[in-house]
This record gives sequence, C-alpha cells and structure tokens, in this order.
Amino acid sequence: MKRFQCDVLVVGGGRAGLMSAYGAAINNASVMVASKGKVQRSGATVMAPGAISAVDDRWKMEGDSKEIHFEDTILGGCFINDQGLVKILCERSPEMVLELERMGALFQREEDGLSYSLRIDGGHRFARCPFLEDRTGKEMLKAMAGALRKLHVPLCENVMITRILKKEGRVAGAVGISTITGDTVLFDCGAVIIAAGGGGMIYENSDNPTDLTGDSYGLALAAGASLRDMEFVQFYPVGFLQPPSMKGIFAGLLYYSRLYNARGERFMEKYDPERLELSTRDRVSMAIVQEVREGRGTPGGGVYMDMTYQEPGFIAKMTPALYSTYINMGHDPETDCIEIAPTAHHFMLGIAVDERWSSGVPG
Ligand SMILES: Cc1cc2nc3c(=O)[nH]c(=O)nc-3n(C[C@H](O)[C@H](O)[C@H](O)COP(=O)(O)OP(=O)(O)OC[C@H]3O[C@@H](n4cnc5c(N)ncnc54)[C@H](O)[C@@H]3O)c2cc1C
Repeated sequence: MKRFQCDVLVVGGGRAGLMSAYGAAINNASVMVASKGKVQRSGATVMAPGAISAVDDRWKMEGDSKEIHFEDTILGGCFINDQGLVKILCERSPEMVLELERMGALFQREEDGLSYSLRIDGGHRFARCPFLEDRTGKEMLKAMAGALRKLHVPLCENVMITRILKKEGRVAGAVGISTITGDTVLFDCGAVIIAAGGGGMIYENSDNPTDLTGDSYGLALAAGASLRDMEFVQFYPVGFLQPPSMKGIFAGLLYYSRLYNARGERFMEKYDPERLELSTRDRVSMAIVQEVREGRGTPGGGVYMDMTYQEPGFIAKMTPALYSTYINMGHDPETDCIEIAPTAHHFMLGIAVDERWSSGVPG
C-alpha cells in the first residue's frame, strides 16, 4: 500500500481539479491531485474544442455585459438555475481566462494582435467566448499542469479514489486504487475537493471519455454530501451516427454548421426562427428528435450537418483537429453533409454546494 500525507486532496485532473489545486497551492496548502486517468489525457476538458464564455470590459462586444451573460444563462436554464451560482460564474469567469493566460495559455487574437477573437455559442446573444482553434480545453490543461509542476504539486495519475475517509464526523482522508498495479493508495488529509467530472459513460451514446462513469457522485454521497438536479443531463445536438465505432462522438461546432432534415429543410427555422442552430442545445436536440420521430430523419435516424456553405479552407483553419477527423472518416466537409444525432454530453448536476463551493461536510 502507498500512503501520502497532504492538507488538501483534489480528486480529478480536469480543469476544475487543476484550478482548485492551484488555488490551494498558492494559498500555502500542501496539495495533491489524484486522477483516475493521466492528467491532460483524461476527463472531458481535454476534449473540449469550443470556447469559454466570459464577458469583460477588455474584450466584450458593444452592447454586451456580465448582466446580459447572466440573463442569457438564466433564460437558457428556464429559470431553474441556481441564480446565486450563475452570478458567481458570470462575475468570475473573466478572471479565470486571465489567470489561464498568466499561466501560459494562448487564446486566438484578432488581427490587431491584442483583442481576443470571440465565438458565439448556443443561447448567447453575443459572441463572448475566447478560444483557441478546436483545442481550447487542451490549452487550458497544458497551462494549468505547467503551473502546478512549477509549484511542485504532485499529480498522482491513474489512481481512482473509491472512498472518502472520516474520523469523528470530519473528513480525514481518502482511499483509492492504482488502475495500473491494483495497489491500494491512502491519503491522509483534512480536506478533499471532488472535481471528478460527469458520468456520460452511463449512456450508450455519449461524447464523453471512458473514465467519466459518475462514480464520484457515490463518493460524495457516502461521505455525507447531497446531490442535486440529477436529471439535468445536457444532450449535445451534434454527435456522429456512423460508423458504429464513432457513434455518439462529438461531431462538430454548431456555430459553423447548419442542420437539415432528410427533405432538405433547415428545420430550426420552424423551432427557433431567430437563433436557428444557435438556439440552446436542449431545444436543438429536441427538434432533431421530433424531426426523426415525425419521419423526416436520415436513414441512420438523425439529420444532416452542413458546413459546405463556409469559405474554402475555413473549417480546416478554425477546427483543424475536427477537420482531420472528417477527412479520416472519408467526409470532406467542404462538399459533404454528415449524418448526426444528439449525444449525452454534459452533466449539469452534481454535488450540492453553497456559494463558497462547500458541500457542508466538515473537514
Ligand atoms: C466532447 C466535449 C466537448 C466539450 N466542449 C466544450 C466547450 O467547447 N466549452 C466548454 O466550456 N465546455 C465543453 N465541454 C464540457 C467541458 O469539457 C466540461 O464541462 C469540463 O471540462 C469539465 O471539467 P472537470 O474538471 O469538471 O471534469 P473533467 O475534465 O471531466 O475531469 C474529470 C477528472 O476526474 C477524474 N476522475 C473521475 N473519477 C475519478 C475518481 N473516482 N478518482 C480519481 N479521479 C477521477 C478523471 O479521470 C478526470 O481526470 C465539452 C465536453 C465534451 C465531452
């Protein structure tokens, strides 16, 4: 058995885990990260091609504001969101973008070399999302992992935490297993931060990596935390349908695509005529399902994603990794439409926390 001691154990090596570890380390806590997979190779963050929504006076579009970002998020969530947490998200996300940049992350710039290029995502009224090609998540992890290495924060990779340990009602450590050797790994620590991502693998069709099985919800529950909103799983509208080995895998960015049913109709004109494919993801996914149910789907049971209207070279330039996936699969996005369907994407649910991100389980 391996045994380690630290003040704070972070469970999870994605963007939430690494940023939490960084926060603890710069506040002089001795911190360790345990990650089921390898850092920069596991979890959803490394797969995130898109962008980070964050509004700040230094880069916002005219007319946009943090208040409008807040409103868009609440409207997109049909007023079910926890407004206190959404407010914190909108307030703090620009600081996080700048923190990532200080750590060394690159974000795409306009021709002046100064202002960020911004993407618009579904449900947003303005383009407000800094990005880097289609490797925004990878870039974030690279920067954070580098910052943690400089602070000598140990990353215990391939260690799956299986139980939070408590003594006299307080968190006292955690136990896990090495996924390589099968050895038991024990951490003595006074605080545990669970940042272990979602559980897309419980669905047959998901764009999540295989390590996201949702087991960390069990960890939290057994330690006395509460879970909330467990029914809120987001389905991303655009997952590959073919070949079977790629079914469910993230197939493209909606801001560079149009969707058509088997009759050649741009069906989002009917469901959300103003925002079209840039409606919220739940609406676009439900529209696809309705088209298929009513007999207007493709032979594989989906709809067509069309990028052929883009300028030649645009898709290859803006999304080079996705472009090479299309080409390897035998699709030229400049001439072919691709069959797609919704796929389980993002767990908006999880451990119930207050506005200080505390679960209330004493440590
Ligand atoms: C294909 C795809 C594309 C996306 N695109 C975007 C985008 O463009 N913009 C955006 O904002 N969001 C995007 N998202 C969502 C975003 O990536 C995630 O919400 C975010 O990265 C989650 O970060 P995280 O740190 O919470 O979890 P993850 O990055 O999933 O990391 C979880 C970590 O926990 C580890 N872990 C799990 N269980 C255990 C355990 N028991 N013990 C130890 N370690 C454990 C995993 O191995 C992993 O290291 C996308 C998601 C996917 C899947």
